[in-house]
Amino acid sequence: MKNVTLNNGVEMPILGFGVYQIPADQTEQAVSEALAAGYRSLDTAAAYQNEEAVGRAIRNSGIARDELFITTKLWVQDAGEDATKRAFDSSLKRLGLDHVDLYLMHQPYGDVYSQWRAMQDLNAAGLVRAIGVSNFHSDRLVDLITHNDITPAVNQIETHPFHQRAEENEYMRGHGVQHESWGPFAEGKNNLFSDPTLTAVAGVHGKSEAQVVLRWLIQRDVVVIPKSVRPDRMAENLDVFNFELTDEQMKLIAALDTETSLFFDHRDPKMVSFLGQRRVD
Ligand code: NAP
Repeated sequence: MKNVTLNNGVEMPILGFGVYQIPADQTEQAVSEALAAGYRSLDTAAAYQNEEAVGRAIRNSGIARDELFITTKLWVQDAGEDATKRAFDSSLKRLGLDHVDLYLMHQPYGDVYSQWRAMQDLNAAGLVRAIGVSNFHSDRLVDLITHNDITPAVNQIETHPFHQRAEENEYMRGHGVQHESWGPFAEGKNNLFSDPTLTAVAGVHGKSEAQVVLRWLIQRDVVVIPKSVRPDRMAENLDVFNFELTDEQMKLIAALDTETSLFFDHRDPKMVSFLGQRRVD
């Protein structure tokens, strides 16, 4: 597995396993199968409501803690430094761990400054090896960097062939923030798995469209965390380190960019209000 080195020296696998939308009662099995397939980096969140199941799978795997890279995320409602620390403690208990490797602020909404101060404290206390953010547009990211001590190690944002985030990628690179993709397959939207360009490139390498997408992201130095509940696809999505896309193929895929979200814009006032009001137990 290839690693990236975050801005504080922590090493993170460039490919991991995401568990968004896996129901809690299926998550333990999916994560157990992912660990058996060879994944060592897991991405969950308080808002996914499956941290306990992720924790059970980790414990049952028998894999040494220092071989794993565990990410979880703080939800918007936990505003204020004390509430942030309580929310982190709850995530830690649900996961059954004594630290996490990466703690992300899930959304750029609410009292982000006190959340970030508390996350800096958690980092200083050794409870979190690295801290970062998610769904931050570049303006919000630069604002957070400018007014705080610690620069986020990671920004996890929607990134796939139809929304490539080239400008954000450059900004993040310039500020030492690791770009991490969520939704690398756009959850299959826009017929990603039968896109003619991806199919043509996949055919040249004897690979699948999914593998080409992951390879394309990895060659852009973007961390990927594809989700699947199927062991065959888990294995397929890991098998992307034995071929290389040419510059020409990278350009063909670059041409698929629509520079538009296939989900929603994090600056849409309706979504800011909707997500800001969502409560997570
Ligand atoms: P995704 O990984 O783009 O797509 C998952 C979908 O693709 C599932 O329907 C899966 O179906 C299918 N799939 C997976 N591998 C495949 C393959 N090789 N061939 C064909 N189909 C395949 O979507 P995502 O889960 O939204 O994103 C990945 C992770 O990013 C999440 O799990 C989560 O950890 C993170 N995320 C974060 C945020 C955020 O706001 N920070 C938002 C969304 C997601 P099966 O499961 O049936 O195989």
